[in-house]
Amino acid sequence: MQNRELVIIGGGPAGLSAAVEAKNQGIKDVLVIDRESELGGILKQCIHTGFGLHIFNEELTGPEYAERFIQKVKDLGIEFKLNTMVIELTEDKRIIAVNPEEGLIEIQAKAVILAMGCRERTRGAINIPGSRPAGIFTAGTAQRYVNIEGYMPGKEIVILGSGDIGLIMARRLTLEGAKVKCVVEIMPYSNGLTRNIVQCLEDYNIPLILSHTVVNIHGTKRVEGVMIAKVDDNLKPIKGTEQFISCDTLLLSVGLIPENELSKMAKVEINEITGGPIVDESMQTSVEGIFACGNVLHVHDLVDFVTMEAQLAAKGAARYIKDGKLSAKNIKIIPDKNIRYVIPNFIDKENIIDGKQKFFMRSTLPFEKCLLVIESEKGIIKKKTLRHVKPSEMINIELKKEEILAEEFMKFFIEEGDLNA
Ligand SMILES: Cc1cc2nc3c(=O)[nH]c(=O)nc-3n(C[C@H](O)[C@H](O)[C@H](O)COP(=O)(O)OP(=O)(O)OC[C@H]3O[C@@H](n4cnc5c(N)ncnc54)[C@H](O)[C@@H]3O)c2cc1C
Repeated sequence: MQNRELVIIGGGPAGLSAAVEAKNQGIKDVLVIDRESELGGILKQCIHTGFGLHIFNEELTGPEYAERFIQKVKDLGIEFKLNTMVIELTEDKRIIAVNPEEGLIEIQAKAVILAMGCRERTRGAINIPGSRPAGIFTAGTAQRYVNIEGYMPGKEIVILGSGDIGLIMARRLTLEGAKVKCVVEIMPYSNGLTRNIVQCLEDYNIPLILSHTVVNIHGTKRVEGVMIAKVDDNLKPIKGTEQFISCDTLLLSVGLIPENELSKMAKVEINEITGGPIVDESMQTSVEGIFACGNVLHVHDLVDFVTMEAQLAAKGAARYIKDGKLSAKNIKIIPDKNIRYVIPNFIDKENIIDGKQKFFMRSTLPFEKCLLVIESEKGIIKKKTLRHVKPSEMINIELKKEEILAEEFMKFFIEEGDLNA
């Protein structure tokens, strides 16, 4: 059995940023483990631009963004194991991993950072009826085929779901010569970033059909078409509105699920809204010494925020390793009216890192103009005017320690209208 100070599970942008920050915080023994053959996580296949605007003030591609951190990991001499799958994690931070060279590896860590990312929801997860022909892919799998393996998934494509991966793939497949017939979205609004609707659909005249879903898949060996229908306010298909669209490929971009099998093994408490761990101000989970960041914690639209969160988790883990400081988790963070969730779920004002706390949240609905209000048992703490709020675009707000006038709880909610209130 090996003894390690800090083990980071996952070598995507979250794991890499956490590793660099932990080393900068003075943790000498940092090990990153990833099951893939290269570092970089999902960014390896995201060859479009749009990464790094907040952190580097530059528009980088996914691989370029990842490379900056991979280089730092190498320059700082941080150890990493590739082709290594972590298969077990216990509450007392014992890790079992496996790889072809070493076989089974057993590690006892002082602290662990969970950075395993997320996986895509599949056809099974959303129960689309119909036959089971070839030609149905998740959008991320298709992205990997096109951008890494060099295969085209099909020629005539329908995309279900207007999440960012679906939008990016609509443009990518068009550029590669496919005909993207439409993007079908069950909600009355798109689930992707506004910039992706404009740059990936509108610029290529690809129709976005809102309030519709796929109700049947046709074809025996290969997809021959899909039946779509309008949905009512309860998202149920409306009889008589069906229309057939011929295609040879259906891409699914219907959501991501944080990869928390290991977290659950370690008895980490999971938030049922985000699907990720419940965390405090230092990104520490309900299990002492186990921290979480990135898509394993909640699904992010921008990688820059993944990096910021990972740096916080690394600072928390470094402090835990050095002086075993624990959070009292004494202020409960409550998502209230029009807010779906807020990260972190608890804070301890005395434990806040660098004297300020960032809160990340998503709204339940789109709003054109609104007020984000933060209230505690002592009254209103802060109000911030927001324009163009969408559930797909994460909201973040930073409070200085002295602004956190709360002892018991902080409620976050959105009020519509009056921006000057
Ligand atoms: C198609 C797409 C387009 C995007 N476009 C943009 C954009 O334009 N701009 C932007 O800023 N952001 C964008 N994002 C978002 C951003 O890329 C992600 O939020 C970010 O990559 C998440 O980082 P992560 O490290 O949490 O997860 P990942 O990148 O998924 O990394 C997780 C890593 O953990 C490893 N792992 C998982 N389980 C185990 C295990 N048991 N053992 C060992 N290793 C394990 C995986 O192999 C993987 O390498 C996009 C995302 C996608 C999918």
